[in-house]
Amino acid sequence: MNPTLTLTYLLVGALLTNVLLKLWLNARQVRHVALHRAEVPETFATQISLSDHQKAADYTLAKAKVSQIDIMLEAAILVGWTLLGGLSALNALVLEFMAPGLWQQVVLVLCFTLVGALLDLPLSLYQTFVLEQRFGFNKMTWSLWFSDSVKGLLLGLVLGVPLIAMVLWLMQAGGAYWWFWTWCALVFWQLFLMAIAPNVIMPLFNKFTPLEDEALKTRVNGLMQRAGFTAKGFFVMDGSKRSAHSNAFFTGFGASKRVVFFDTLLKQLSSAEMEAVLAHELGHFKHRHIFKMMLTSFILSLLGLALLGFASQQIWFYTGLGVMPNLLGGNEAVALLLFMLVVPVFTFLLAPLSSWRSRIQEYEADAYAVSQTPAKDLSSALLKLYQDNASTLTPDPLYVMFYYSHPPASLRLARMQNA
Ligand SMILES: [Zn+2]
Repeated sequence: MNPTLTLTYLLVGALLTNVLLKLWLNARQVRHVALHRAEVPETFATQISLSDHQKAADYTLAKAKVSQIDIMLEAAILVGWTLLGGLSALNALVLEFMAPGLWQQVVLVLCFTLVGALLDLPLSLYQTFVLEQRFGFNKMTWSLWFSDSVKGLLLGLVLGVPLIAMVLWLMQAGGAYWWFWTWCALVFWQLFLMAIAPNVIMPLFNKFTPLEDEALKTRVNGLMQRAGFTAKGFFVMDGSKRSAHSNAFFTGFGASKRVVFFDTLLKQLSSAEMEAVLAHELGHFKHRHIFKMMLTSFILSLLGLALLGFASQQIWFYTGLGVMPNLLGGNEAVALLLFMLVVPVFTFLLAPLSSWRSRIQEYEADAYAVSQTPAKDLSSALLKLYQDNASTLTPDPLYVMFYYSHPPASLRLARMQNA
């Protein structure tokens, strides 16, 4: 069979498998949660009220409905861009207005991104202003949404255009090993973004005020010293202006870190629970999880770019995915976009692997937290977070296997008790 048709069939087969698998997992999750809606699981019967349990179930079911639409929409958009010729048409349209070259390709990537964002818009608005609203999580106003979008767009242009231009230029001028030079540039870019994120990017969207609670500060400082870290400062972030969901995190490289609490978290947890949550986060640092994750992603992106280096030289790579390549050259942007569209279809079956790894790391961080602070503080903090975020306590095991980056509450608490 000719390679063009083989690739087309491969894509269609993989996409169908993905869609059916995702819908099936979704249906399993719905059935499992609905089945356990009537009663709080025995282990949590004393801590979680029936109404909270049912709110979590209803929230999970409502999200599953949206995700069902999302799965099909995503597949339709992918087919639209590739086999139905969307990307080819967009390319031809841009070429009507601009002469072929680097900047025409940059504009193609920008137009593609813009169209993609517009296609995602209705569902994302529905999620924020209808779904999250109905369950009391949305705190976003329309004016905040608008200013976030404008800022995001400008930031995307300022940071994105140089990156796209650089990558496309390397693809054209970098010779046979352009993918390696591109990879070096991307790694550098990633580290640069991480370095400027806390001081330049995040303050554009949120306010960070120093933590005022002296008792909590002393407490958390003590924990960090015991664990061998120094805190560069404690900050409170006004997460509540967008959502009632909560979090705590660290920013910064090396041993000294800025600790950031969502204001929503401060309201929900006692200081002992707060300390336990931070101890969990410190556990991620002790086990070098962030470093390991980055290393994995760098290795995978090197493999991906090497593959793209090969694929972009093959005519069947374009024709098999519904694009007529320009035979006089200048296909870099098209190759890049096709690759980014299609690769996730072929890697979805590996999702359980990365979810599994992430869940192992959560257990490790929990174990570390329990070695630094009383286990009862972490378990009560976790239960409160599950409750306040309306996370279901009865997910479907297979769904968990594919999607959950954190183990379900019952398993986490059981491990802690055994420790
Ligand atoms: Zn964690």
